[in-house]
Formats: sequence, C-alpha cells, structure tokens
Amino acid sequence: MNTYDLLVVGSANADLVVGVERRPGAGETVLGSDLVVHPGGKGANQAVAAARLGARTALLARIGDDGHGALLRGSMESAGVDTSGVLVGGAPTGVALITVDPSGDNSIVVSPGANGRLTPDDVRAAGELFGGARVVSVMLEIPLESVAEVARSVADGARLVLNPSPPAPLPDEVLAVCDPLIVNEHEAKVIADASGTELGATPEDWARQLLALGPRSVVITLGAEGALVADAAGSERVAAVKVEAVDTTGAGDAFTAALAWRLGTGESLADAAAYAAKVGAAAVTKEGAQASYPTAEEVAALCCVSPGTPPGPPAGTAGTTA
Ligand code: ADP
Repeated sequence: MNTYDLLVVGSANADLVVGVERRPGAGETVLGSDLVVHPGGKGANQAVAAARLGARTALLARIGDDGHGALLRGSMESAGVDTSGVLVGGAPTGVALITVDPSGDNSIVVSPGANGRLTPDDVRAAGELFGGARVVSVMLEIPLESVAEVARSVADGARLVLNPSPPAPLPDEVLAVCDPLIVNEHEAKVIADASGTELGATPEDWARQLLALGPRSVVITLGAEGALVADAAGSERVAAVKVEAVDTTGAGDAFTAALAWRLGTGESLADAAAYAAKVGAAAVTKEGAQASYPTAEEVAALCCVSPGTPPGPPAGTAGTTA
C-alpha cells in the first residue's frame, strides 16, 4: 500500500509580478503597478495541481526561511500537499521577477535561490518519500545532479515522469528511466539537438526520434492541439478539450501532474493523457497558475461541455439562453 499517489521533486518559486507601460531597456528605470506575488515554480505548481484533483501528493523541494517560503508552504498546504519533504534554508526562496507590458509580453529574471541548493544528499535522505510513492515526477528547475539522483531513487514498481523544463541535455541514465518523458516542441528540439538528431516534420516523427534516445514512453504536448503519446507499441493523438483560453501559465504543469497521478492509478498512457488534457484545458480558462487549477469535480463538469460550446457558469447558475 503506497502512502503517496505522487511524489513531486522540484522547484518552488515566488512569482513577483509588476505591470509596466513599457519594459525597461538597459540603464532605464520605469514606474510600474503595485507588486503582486503568486506562488509558483514547476514543482510547487505540479504538487498543488495533483493535490487539488484529490491525489495524495508530497513535494520534495527547498525553500528559504523567509516570507516567500511561508507563502508557498501556505498555498501547498491549503491544496492538501504533504510538505514534510519541503526543506528550509541554505538560500532565499527562489523568485521569478516578472514585468508584463499591456500587450502581455513579459521579461523574466529567475533567481533559483534555495532550488539550486536541493542536493543529491537531500534526495538520498528522502528515502521514505520515494519508498511510499507510486509515481515520481521531476523537472529541471533543480540541479541536474539531483535530477539524476531522483532517477536512481525511484522505487521498484514505481515510475518516473520527467518534464525537462527549462530544457537541457539529459544524461542517458536519466532518459532511460523516463516513463514518460513529457516535452513540448521546444523541449523536444533541445533534447534531440543534444544527441545530434534533427527533428522531423510531425509530432509522430519527434516521438519516434525521442524514443530512440532511450525513454520508455514519450508524451508531446501541443497546446490547443492536445498531445501525442507514444511508446514501443506505437503512437496516438490525444484531442484537446475546446475551451476559451484566458491564460496558459502553468497549463503544462497541471497536465504533467494529472498525467502522472492517473498513470499511478493504472490507467493507460493514452487514457491518462486524455484526462490530463482536460485538466490542462481547465487550467487555461482562468488567470494564473496555481489559482487556475481545477478540482476533480470541475474537470468532470468540463468534460460535459460539448466541443465548440463556449465555457460558461456551471449548470444551474446560467441565465436562460436563446
Ligand atoms: P507547455 O506549457 O509545457 O508548453 P502546453 O501549452 O502544450 O504545455 O499545455 C499542456 C496541455 O494543456 C496541452 O497538451 C493541452 O492538452 C492543454 N492545453 C494547453 N493549452 C490549451 C488550450 N488553449 N486549449 C485546450 N487545451 C490546452
């Protein structure tokens, strides 16, 4: 009997957002809006997304002994994430400094802070979390040597899900245990480039080429086009759920978390990806990352909206329509 449906190992950041009329050039100072601080980071996002869906979820991460760390812990705990693996200290909590102009274009500086101090020793010391997890999900906003230690620490019978973001070349020993490797087009290109592979024309080509690099399975995310899943048996397209996209921030993290959780329940890769596509679609219908993540009930409601129907208030609250 597993203690956790999902163990996420990854980053936790505070996103510090300021709206500006114009993003500053070199040597320039501009005045902006009031500061808004959101909980973020791909690890914390995934953990919150899975817990909100009802998965028993733990996060192994490192935050600073500061207010941003407290904000992140609060957000995770209110979603139901087990934070016993959230280590404190060594550096300030990671932050992303984000300026956004009226057209929606942004400039971002990330200070990894404590995320960069999540060491292979920290991973080795978390044996109890790994021993209790059906599925482990990891991304690259922590040191690569810690990611490699995660790949070595996955318990027998459990599976590793990896989203290589921000993209970087991966060691063969990590690629070999990914089941699946989850990439968008840009990430696929970086992984392929590192092995001297030039990607073909279609997502089916990319999946086949990536599988040749060692992962047991591959998922390609395609935004509003859905996703493609592939393993040794072949590949299959997964349709996106049609919604009106408001903000795509964090959709990939919600998709990955949902997919990882459903795989642990024994679903096939295609079925888990179909569920994850609903979760990703729900996440793009609201502003923000963690604030946009749906509950299982909201996902179920979304699936009953027929394709092409604009999203509206839940049944029973809508006014009469012609
Ligand atoms: P990433 O952020 O990693 O590039 P995507 O933007 O492809 O990830 O989003 C992950 C998944 O979320 C997609 O595979 C899709 O299922 C869903 N999704 C993303 N954007 C939309 C959208 N505009 N409409 C419907 N589903 C979406």
